Amino acid sequence: MKIIKEIDFRFQNLDKLWERWNWDNFRYRLGREFRYVIPSELRLDNGEDFFIGKSSYYIKEYLNLTLQEYFDLMVLHINDTEERPKCKYCNEFIEFSGELARGYSRHKWEDSNNLFCCMSHRQYYIHQHLDEYPSEVRRREIWTQAVPLNDLRQAKSAMNRELNHGEYTDLIYFYRGTFDKDWLKYGITECYPGRNNHLHLTNDDVLQYTRSKACLLEYLIKLKFIELGIEDHEFIRIEHKDIFYKITDELIAYINGITSDQVINKINEINS
Ligand SMILES: [Zn+2]
Repeated sequence: MKIIKEIDFRFQNLDKLWERWNWDNFRYRLGREFRYVIPSELRLDNGEDFFIGKSSYYIKEYLNLTLQEYFDLMVLHINDTEERPKCKYCNEFIEFSGELARGYSRHKWEDSNNLFCCMSHRQYYIHQHLDEYPSEVRRREIWTQAVPLNDLRQAKSAMNRELNHGEYTDLIYFYRGTFDKDWLKYGITECYPGRNNHLHLTNDDVLQYTRSKACLLEYLIKLKFIELGIEDHEFIRIEHKDIFYKITDELIAYINGITSDQVINKINEINS
């Protein structure tokens, strides 16, 4: 869909707009805030450029655009919603952050050469393209060489990080399956984990749990694999298939059999 339609007089000004404005100059810092340009090329009333503080109101008022459309035109220099950024892994469109400073990124737009729709897809992609992520390789080396105590601490902080992503009662997914031909993979995710060519899951491999149950389950599985020395950042080599299914079956049965209160007690116990 076109953002600025051919019938809109502003359609004629887009080349000029893109020549004049970009990420480096469409805003400037004033104290702790940013000021954003309302460029003459996009104004409905043919007025001059001016800079604004509270962006969404003026962008609607003077340009009749949403923040996302404004970002597309000013920063991405696109006029077609089909050209919006897609996940490097699954090729689905990425959600707009709702903020001009972040654009389509979860953190800062400056870091946006790595855009993924969710954390799981970032992880899958990195796993397959370690050459592009030297710092991740280093992290994995540290992980696999670490003393057990350090592994436990990392597993614990990973659990708490996921718990803090939302409410304990949110419904999220636990999954386990094969990843390409050499790996087994388990994990938890907020987006339904079925849609890619690398991860093979049956219906029984995707389970919906509350966040607290899913996080505890993942932690307990990780703990087992750490004890056995076969954990590799939530990827397990295919030769451990039997033990992988045995351990995950047992812990899924355990999680299915305990109440929410027991889950919370267990999490508190782990953190104490
Ligand atoms: Zn994705």
